[in-house]
Amino acid sequence: MPLNACELEIDLFCRGLRLDGDLSLEGARSIARTRAGLGSGLELVLPTGSWLKQRIWVNAPVEEPFAAASPYVLHGAPAGGHWIEDTRDGHRYAVDVPPEPAWYARTTSRGIPMHRVGVLQGSYLGIYVNMVCTFWNYQPALNCRFCTTGENVGEHEAADKAVEDVVETCRAAKAESGITFVHLNAGFQGSRGVQFAEPYIRAIKEQVGLLVGAQLAPEKDFSRYDRLIDLGVDHLSFCVEFFDPEWFARICPGKQRVLGQQIFLDSIEYCARRMPRGAVSGEIIAGLEPIASTLGGIDWIAARGAFPTVCVFRPTVGADLEAWAPPRYEEMRAVMAHVYDACRRHWIPIGAAPNIEVSIVVNPDDAALLAPRGPAFYAYEGYRRLARAVAAPIFARRMRPRRRREPGDDGEIPQASTAPEPGGRSSTA
Ligand code: SF4
Repeated sequence: MPLNACELEIDLFCRGLRLDGDLSLEGARSIARTRAGLGSGLELVLPTGSWLKQRIWVNAPVEEPFAAASPYVLHGAPAGGHWIEDTRDGHRYAVDVPPEPAWYARTTSRGIPMHRVGVLQGSYLGIYVNMVCTFWNYQPALNCRFCTTGENVGEHEAADKAVEDVVETCRAAKAESGITFVHLNAGFQGSRGVQFAEPYIRAIKEQVGLLVGAQLAPEKDFSRYDRLIDLGVDHLSFCVEFFDPEWFARICPGKQRVLGQQIFLDSIEYCARRMPRGAVSGEIIAGLEPIASTLGGIDWIAARGAFPTVCVFRPTVGADLEAWAPPRYEEMRAVMAHVYDACRRHWIPIGAAPNIEVSIVVNPDDAALLAPRGPAFYAYEGYRRLARAVAAPIFARRMRPRRRREPGDDGEIPQASTAPEPGGRSSTA
């Protein structure tokens, strides 16, 4: 029985992908081992054939050793077109291989290659701002055991990203790849991570005009989040990673020693009360702690009006856990179905923001393809459509370049310099 597109996405995360020996990936997005390393795979787009969602982005693991045993093989026809073959039953799934954007090859005015500033991970731009996470500087290191940020920042991506590098890269990605959202993350920076991120957020909102998300280690002074909200941040996410306290302590020794798990939960609660429903997320890794803990965490996050962002654990090359096994498909399918169900039960407007498709996780709305059909399902899908329609002009306004309001002006900056170029949008973005 063939899998639907969300099931295939989950199975690719769990089993990885092999590449046909004759396959040429010239022109495809190159593998970008940046940030925590989760983008270490090949970017693909899976058509769904469903009215619920037309396509799903996935970053399929190809370099990790477990992928060498995958039943999935990517093929390409010389005349164009790609498909994944499941060698267990011969089934073929049509896929798109998105092209690498031209701006990856350009440099910022400081001479920094733009692909070393930010990378596309699905249809959005991901940028690690700030210095390398300080958990990597301890002796012995206190880094999270699944993470490779300490190997990537300064190696595969620029260690020093000035505000103008980020602004110019965002501008290029908006104009040429049609992005609507940039996600900034920063690792642990003591009590100054929020402060360090502020100039980037301010400049992007004022000079580019994008939806901006920030993923920063929690800080005790929650008024700093109020400041980010005043600056116009659209999304805040907190990487609690594990709900089981023992797994949290075991896999995230720095977070355990310096921060503790509770501050992640308190930060989610605080920000979810101050931001629109669904603007905050709690990030979890599935496949290490007991599944019951993950399901409990998903429920906890959704009950706060936030949405769960759930990564399938990837034993990334270079991480302390690189020799660990990836999780089982059946369990991950159950987790992702639970994500959708929790969002439905708590009326979280998932998928309301325009064109934000994340390739390194199963988006909560991808998981609509896993849900049983019934009155509750259709009622929620109707609500999501309504939320999208109501939110569209709000997001459009928030995507205009906007300087902070001075007395006597409306704060808006004319858009002409950053409007997408006709025909410049990538075919898959
Ligand atoms: S906090 Fe953990 S996951 Fe985040 S960058 Fe630091 S080591 Fe990596």
